Amino acid sequence: MKTFIRQTIAWALCALSMSAFAQTASVPAGAKTELLWLGQAGFRIKSPGGKTIVIDPWLTGGPKTPAPIKADIAALGKVDLLLVTHAHVDHIGDAPALAKMHKTVLYGPADMITPLVTLGIMPAELTHRFNKTGSVKPLPGIKVTAVQAEHSSLLVWKNPATEKLESHPAGEAVGYIIELENGFKIWHMGDTGLFGDMKFITERYKPDLVLMPIGGNFTMDPDDAAFAARTWIKPKMVIPMHYNSNPLAKGTLEEFQNAMKGSEVKVVPMTEGQNLAF
Ligand SMILES: [Zn+2]
Repeated sequence: MKTFIRQTIAWALCALSMSAFAQTASVPAGAKTELLWLGQAGFRIKSPGGKTIVIDPWLTGGPKTPAPIKADIAALGKVDLLLVTHAHVDHIGDAPALAKMHKTVLYGPADMITPLVTLGIMPAELTHRFNKTGSVKPLPGIKVTAVQAEHSSLLVWKNPATEKLESHPAGEAVGYIIELENGFKIWHMGDTGLFGDMKFITERYKPDLVLMPIGGNFTMDPDDAAFAARTWIKPKMVIPMHYNSNPLAKGTLEEFQNAMKGSEVKVVPMTEGQNLAF
């Protein structure tokens, strides 16, 4: 009997380590992460393991979308994972269309996903609902955690039956901590104002790169964003976003760079359509 139990445990451990192995993505030595700015809060991340993650793709409607992608969202290439931070049009944008085109699951705040499904915008099987501090492992070696963002979320939808615009509550906005196969962590803050628990999020998740809104009006302005980056978060790198696309969000890259002067945090400015590898 004892032998049987020992063998059973041995097999169980073996199966456990096999499944752990199956979940571990192989990353080629020296493989890089690529980041393409699609304008506003939209990014395409190519992970070191070769997966494509798209966040907040406001493409056909975005004023700064790279021209080939604005003309045809298929030009974005394959999409393995779709993340949306909240339901405002400059974030949800073309995410439903991309999900259906690539048969890719759209991950988003639970109460944003629900109206997408109940209104018939998205088929339930192409959606995943989660919520703040909840984590998912949608691809081998990739982990995404939803975190707080100090913002709102409202879904505006044109009802095809009436041709009228309707407003639907869409839960609370979030940011995402995206951990890639090599352990590199990107914090996409979504739309957010300044809030004290940026310190907690930093302590808990230790992001390497932060994609940070600086435009003001709807989000942090350059001064608030610089305060958060240099005082609370202190990541290796920060890339400013959510400016240059809405006349009400007047914050500029130059103002942010000036406010970051003297900080050890590396500011990596991007232009829309630029692809960085690091
Ligand atoms: Zn917003």
